[in-house]
Parts: sequence; C-alpha cells; structure tokens
Amino acid sequence: SGLDAAQIDALAWDKQDGLLPAVIQDAADLRVLMLGYMDRAALDATLASGHVTFYSRSKQRLWTKGESSGHFLDLVSIETDCDRDTLLVRAVPHGPTCHLGRVSCFPKAPGDELAFLGELDELIARRERERPEGSYTTHLFAKGAAAIAKKVGEEAVETALAAVGEDDAALCAEAADLLFHLQVLLRARGLSLADAVAVLRQRHGQPHRGARRRED
Ligand code: AMP
Ligand code: ZN
Ligand code: ZN
Ligand code: ZN
Repeated sequence: SGLDAAQIDALAWDKQDGLLPAVIQDAADLRVLMLGYMDRAALDATLASGHVTFYSRSKQRLWTKGESSGHFLDLVSIETDCDRDTLLVRAVPHGPTCHLGRVSCFPKAPGDELAFLGELDELIARRERERPEGSYTTHLFAKGAAAIAKKVGEEAVETALAAVGEDDAALCAEAADLLFHLQVLLRARGLSLADAVAVLRQRHGQPHRGARRRED
C-alpha cells in the first residue's frame, strides 16, 4: 500500500522524536478526517493489521483508532510527502472518525458537497454497466438517451419555475433533479460530468471565448 521497507527506513524519523504526523483522508471522497502521529511501531502495526494505528501522545502508547468505539479506519494506502516527514493515509472509515461523533475532526469545506458529484458520477457509471433491477437509474438507461434528454428538459423547466418562487428548498430540490438527470444523460451518451467540467476549466481565464458571450 505505497511504502516498502526501504522507504519506511528513509522516513524522517529523527526530525520529531520518532513521530511523523499522519494526515488521514477518506479514500472515497478524499475528505481530511483527522491528524494523528505515528512512530515506527504504529506504522508497522497499521501495515500489519490494516487498521490505522497511531502513537497517542496523551495515552503514551499505541492507539488503534476505533479500539473502543469500533470506528476503525481500514487502511487503503500510505504515501509520504516531498521531504518524507509527513504521512498521507487513505482509509475507509467505519463510522464517524471524530470522537465528538462527526465524520471528520475538521469542519466541512464548501468543496465537499461538490466532490460528491464525482462519487455520484461513478455510481451512475456502475449502474449503466451492471443494470441492477429496481434501480431508477437502470430504468432511465433502459429508456435511452432521447427519453433522458426529455427528462432533463422537464427538470430544467421545473428548476427555472422554482427559481422565480421564494422557496429555497424547492429550488434546491429541482436543481438536484436537474443535475442528476444531466449526469445520467451525459453518461448515456458515453460522456461524463467531468467532460463538461473540463470545458468550463478550459474557458476559465478566457473571458471572450465562452458560451456566456454568445448567449447574452
Ligand atoms: P476510539 O479510538 O474511536 O475507540 O476512541 C478512543 C478514544 O480515543 C476516545 O475516547 C478519544 O479520547 C480518543 N479519540 C478517538 N477519536 C479521536 C480523534 N479523531 N481525535 C482525537 N482523539 C480521538
Ligand atoms: Zn514535509
Ligand atoms: Zn475529533
Ligand atoms: Zn423535478
């Protein structure tokens, strides 16, 4: 999972009393979950058990995250940074990582919700491949791109109508419907939301060449 024995030896163990800070990320959405410290024994225990284990400075012993709560962090990968004094650990959390019951020890960043669009895109692609019975997404793919396009048109109109009303929750619900059906439509055409976002990124910093100007 990223580090071999030679690389572990080469980590900057001497820099901070044998401890390296370890940034823990959710492997699914890359959200930062917590920061802990690992000594050599904690890193070895993490690699051997597959459960992220720290050296707890307050407990002054090895501490496997989840040992009492059951909210273990299942190891996915470990990498180190440019000067080998910090670890980046990707893990699958079993329950909330923060002992205050929150998903992360850090506050939510605005980008977190947007990152979920990427997860949803992967889920939609999986539905298209596997076509599980009883799934609404499967139902949409079965009807084909033209029917999905019609649905996108309806959701766009519903979004526009909601936008001239006062109800924020209703507008968000319609916008969510629109985004979802647009993702499904792009997938039905062999594309993804990322392809559309790549166009936005290309336009960025080229104010005279975007679609905005054409449509104004
Ligand atoms: P756990 O490892 O989840 O079984 O929790 C055991 C104890 O470790 C808790 O009672 C806290 O004192 C501490 N703890 C758990 N999770 C965290 C965390 N994310 N950051 C700091 N301390 C924690
Ligand atoms: Zn560093
Ligand atoms: Zn916490
Ligand atoms: Zn709708």
